[in-house]
Amino acid sequence: MQTNSIVELSRSAYQKNIVFLKQLFGKKVILSSVVKGNAYGHGIAEFVTMASECGVSHFSVFDVDEARQIKAALQKEITILIMGFVDEENLEWIIENDIEFFVFDKKRLIHAAKTAKKLKKKAIVHIEIETGMNRTGFEKNELSSVVAILKKDKERLLFKGLCTHYAGAESIANYDRVAKQIKRFQEIEQYFIEKELKPELLHSACSAASIMFPETRMNLVRIGIMQYGLWSSQEVFITYLNSKKIKSDPLHRIITWKSAVMNIKKVKSGDFIGYGTSFMAKKNMKIAVIPIGYAHGYSRSLSNHGRVLIKGQRCMVVGLVNMNMIAVDITDIENVEKEEEVVLIGNQKDLAISIASFSDYSNQLNYELLTRISKTIPRKIIE
Ligand SMILES: *Cc1c(COP(=O)(O)O)cnc(C)c1O
Repeated sequence: MQTNSIVELSRSAYQKNIVFLKQLFGKKVILSSVVKGNAYGHGIAEFVTMASECGVSHFSVFDVDEARQIKAALQKEITILIMGFVDEENLEWIIENDIEFFVFDKKRLIHAAKTAKKLKKKAIVHIEIETGMNRTGFEKNELSSVVAILKKDKERLLFKGLCTHYAGAESIANYDRVAKQIKRFQEIEQYFIEKELKPELLHSACSAASIMFPETRMNLVRIGIMQYGLWSSQEVFITYLNSKKIKSDPLHRIITWKSAVMNIKKVKSGDFIGYGTSFMAKKNMKIAVIPIGYAHGYSRSLSNHGRVLIKGQRCMVVGLVNMNMIAVDITDIENVEKEEEVVLIGNQKDLAISIASFSDYSNQLNYELLTRISKTIPRKIIE
């Protein structure tokens, strides 16, 4: 395990986010915590442990591997929903463990019924329908056979959910496209009702849709980015603020990423720093070398752009981000020694490196930046 940096998760910040979200959605809507992508880089095992302690009991993941990691981390009764990839090999384990899963092709539906029969259990399925994203989801012309299978195998298939996903609800530019998807979803819901098949739950909203189109909340919301204390986009945040009298951000970043100074060097005016010639010292400088690089998820595009905090002051990355190291300018900071704390994301004294600023410098989305933070860095829950 690497100890050259550490990712800390703030339980109190998470608790605040969950209280806010539960209040926003109300008691009747299930809050599913989306923890794909190693819980958006937060560390899935540590994150679900913390979430469970904060009263979250429904988790959505992309694949079986993530479902297994949650099972291993939590002994409590919880619900796990796989929204993406399931291979036939793993269907037995999924059904055996009452894991719920999206189904978007007939083969998987038939196979689920067969496997459930063999295990003498029910497969808990969420039928995903195509409404306009054109990624996964049953097409309209497949629905009659889906209905037939669900009816024929109703002893083996528990029709738990009818669901869809929106193609970019975080941007007002996609308003028409998403509005059409919502309408299509309602038509298909009606179709199922006419066929006398009623799912227990209807769900469609991700973070952005839950704010931009409150009617998409239905019975369950699949919330990723907001629970981590971030908005899907500036537009979503502004839309939220416009609906409120008190203009303050109710979400709190829960992640902090820290490292420590590994080496300190003096560089003479006119010398280059690091590989090649991307940074030349224009004066006598003092630099600190930090054992973090693109292999750990610190993007190469932060070369000569990134900022870190040392002794409560902002320091620029000088030169290229290397695979495992960066150099930062500490010329104007006194008394920095080896092992001095370095904040890559988070607060130090009065300053903060926010995820937004960080991802703006590197042209990455919040989502991408977070999920790139290497899995091998230890995660720790703090108060
Ligand atoms: C990732 C994902 C979500 C959560 O998205 P956020 O924008 O992070 O809230 C919801 N539903 C599906 C199908 C997803 O893949």
